[in-house]
Parts: sequence; structure tokens; C-alpha cells
Amino acid sequence: MVEFDRSRVAVVDHPLVQHKLGILRDKRTGTKQFRDLVRELAHFECYEATRDLPLEDVEIETPISATTAKRIAGRKLAVVPILRAGLGMVDGVLDLVPAARVGHLGMYRDEVTHEPHEYYAKLPRDIAERTCLVVDPMLATGGSAEAALQYLRAHGATDIRFLCIVAAPEGLARVLEADDEVRVYTCSIDEGLNGAAYIVPGLGDAGDRIFGTL
Ligand code: URA
Repeated sequence: MVEFDRSRVAVVDHPLVQHKLGILRDKRTGTKQFRDLVRELAHFECYEATRDLPLEDVEIETPISATTAKRIAGRKLAVVPILRAGLGMVDGVLDLVPAARVGHLGMYRDEVTHEPHEYYAKLPRDIAERTCLVVDPMLATGGSAEAALQYLRAHGATDIRFLCIVAAPEGLARVLEADDEVRVYTCSIDEGLNGAAYIVPGLGDAGDRIFGTL
């Protein structure tokens, strides 16, 4: 197996996550259910990836008494989907963090070289001040992920977390090697890539299955 820095990878292995992932992988699962599951799995990933957000005290009154409650303090969030499959995870993050801004990064993968090319980018103006949750269901070769992280770093982002649903060891190694600080959250580390750079066993083409373009 390809080696990578496991200290910066969190596998979200809750039983509900593993159950949903099994249905997601099944080739008989249709578009509607697939899309719903991607959104649900994004909830769990967002939950883990925001575990260390700082809190501050706030004084409130319940219907019964005054009390000190908590609220999120400090940096604001941005969710940055890598187009197009990353779009499937955006609403799952926004369900938990409705105030997050959304940036978009369009990358397509050359069918022959499998290298990423950027064709669209639109980020919140204050991206440098935000914690960035980059989302893409599949971390395969790591090419698009590496390009996305480079783009965000070049635009000042300092706190970046990469959320995927399935990761290949090759992609993890590439991303962690290319970026000294990023942390990766995934529901599974699969066996590896096949000759067409698909993840094995994986779940097929995530974009096609989310958008019904098979
Ligand atoms: N992208 C996908 O959608 N699936 C893979 O297996 C690899 C890249």
C-alpha cells in the first residue's frame, strides 16, 4: 500500500456512516438515493471537520432562568466544492453551517493524462480569513485536490480541511505531500486506483451518479 501521513487523515467510521456508504457503493442505488446519501454523509464529515471550532460564552435567558450558553467564536467558514461532484456535498455542509459562504472551483480531468485543469474559480472575497472546507466525494489521483489547495493557498487561505467520501491511498499521499497543513476527512480509505484512475472498489463516477448523467 502507498504510504502517507496518517496523523492528518481522519476516517469517519461511525456505524451509520459505514452503513450509508455501503448503499452508496452499490451499483443498484439510483440517482435520488445516491444524491441524498452524499448529502447525509457530508453531515457526518462536516461534524468531524468542525470538531475543533472555538466556542465563546454568551449570556441568554431560557424561559426558566438566566444562563451562560455557547456559540461558535472566531473564524467564519467557507465551503468550496470542486466541480462538479463536490456540489453534491455542499448542501450537507450548509445544513449544519448555514452561514458558511460558498466558493466554487471548476476542475476537469484530462481523459488521457488524468491531470487537472482549472476552468472556473469564484471564491468569497475574504477567503483568507475563513476556515475552508474543500469538498469532493472522491479523492482519486489527488490531482484536482492538489490544484484546488494550491489555488486556495495562492489566494491566502490558511486553514483548509479536505472532505471526501472515498479516498485512494495514492490521492492521500499526493495531497498530504503537496500541502504541509491540510487535514483530510474521509469515510473510507479504499484499496487503490485502477488503470483508468477510478477508485477500487470505490463507487464509480460520483458526478454521474449524483447528477444522473450515466
Ligand atoms: N472520480 C470519480 O467520480 N470516481 C472515481 O473512482 C475516481 C474519480
